[in-house]
Amino acid sequence: MTIDLHRLALDAIDAAADELDLGTWLRAMLHQPERSLAVQVPFIGDDGSIRVVPGYRIAHSTARGPAKGGTRFHPDVTPEEVAGLATLMSVKTAVMDLPLGGGKGGVTVDPKAMSELELESLTRSYARAIATNIGPDTDVPAPDVNTSERHMDWMADEYARVVGAPAPAVVTGKSLAAGGSLGRDTATAAGCRAVIAASARRLGLRSDARVVIQGFGNAGAHLAQLLAADGLRIVGLSDSRGAIHDPAGLDVAAVAATKAAHGSVIHHDAEHVSTTDLLALDCEILVPAALEGAIDAAEADAVRARLIAEAANGPCTPAADAILAERGVTTIPDVLASAGGVTVSCFEWEQNRRGERWTADAVASRLEVRMARALDDVWQVAEARRLPLRTAATVLGVDRIATALEARAGLGADELAS
Ligand code: NAD
Repeated sequence: MTIDLHRLALDAIDAAADELDLGTWLRAMLHQPERSLAVQVPFIGDDGSIRVVPGYRIAHSTARGPAKGGTRFHPDVTPEEVAGLATLMSVKTAVMDLPLGGGKGGVTVDPKAMSELELESLTRSYARAIATNIGPDTDVPAPDVNTSERHMDWMADEYARVVGAPAPAVVTGKSLAAGGSLGRDTATAAGCRAVIAASARRLGLRSDARVVIQGFGNAGAHLAQLLAADGLRIVGLSDSRGAIHDPAGLDVAAVAATKAAHGSVIHHDAEHVSTTDLLALDCEILVPAALEGAIDAAEADAVRARLIAEAANGPCTPAADAILAERGVTTIPDVLASAGGVTVSCFEWEQNRRGERWTADAVASRLEVRMARALDDVWQVAEARRLPLRTAATVLGVDRIATALEARAGLGADELAS
């Protein structure tokens, strides 16, 4: 199901603002992006014609540091969606206590119908169009849906041409050769694994707990391999074509090899189940790592896991969330469980700014420390205020942004707040 991300983000912020009793000016600051840019993006088609598509770059908040967030190339991109995603990024970076704010960008285009040359022309044109609004100290884009390190390398190169000097810290998610960080490709999975391990200990789950993962892409496949290596049993896996189940535990490396060779997990030799039934399998830990809105009320009713870790963005609808909370299922929200990627993006930005190259081990251990600290922080707010983890995470993030805004406000802020 499609969900209105901007509405959801604003509702979550309103609930947190109520919990924190924030004044009107802070609510207004949190509701509106600080800076929104809409641009025209002309690019050269393979037939020599010039096409023009709309693009956006929105900085929701820079109260805690430069805005940070991905770049989406998709036919459904709208300014409202970009604003919603930028808002979520502000909360995510604040929950992780990174020295960054939140932003997002997008171009309304179907990249799947374009050649490599057209994509390069489009990406460079987009980078030029938003160059006045981005920069290592202002707003730092990254990859998102349908963009990857290749696009980020083009954006960094084009930005360097505009400003007349190399500036690798202007975007993250670059290739290693162009200043990317080790550990970036597995960062989301590694971050999710860290919060699952710590939460499983808190809940007293067995060390060989059973795990079901929806989605076997970048996040899901890496996570399955990491959790299996930790000794957990991966009893169910799915991709867009179907789902497989083995109560004794799937051989994840073999499933990955099958997917690489034949295009889907369904070709692996195991019991087939529907993608919906996958979510209702008997297990302790369920990880939605595929789609927004994948778990709605009906699926939530059927969930048998004790712990859900949202590796995907927005996989549980508000209706599902209410049912899961009522049923005592612990949900590690997306702003925390999927924050490994932005955290290593932050590490990349820090390395670029300092002219450093961290080892894979240094990245992995710093990530683990950050994730464990953020989980502890969220859990503390949840216990102190008697809130579900999702609300607690938003309260923590909004509180940190509001505190930064207040610290920087003029002397009149107190009167404004009353
Ligand atoms: P991806 O495209 O690599 O993988 C998505 C997977 O989901 C694929 O295996 C696809 O087949 C599967 N899928 C699609 N429809 C499905 C369905 N109906 N049932 C079961 N599986 C289905 O994407 P990704 O990068 O792994 O991202 C997955 C989610 O994680 C997204 O919500 C994304 O926003 C979020 N996320 C990813 C990162 C990252 O660094 N990759 C960071 C933060 C959040």
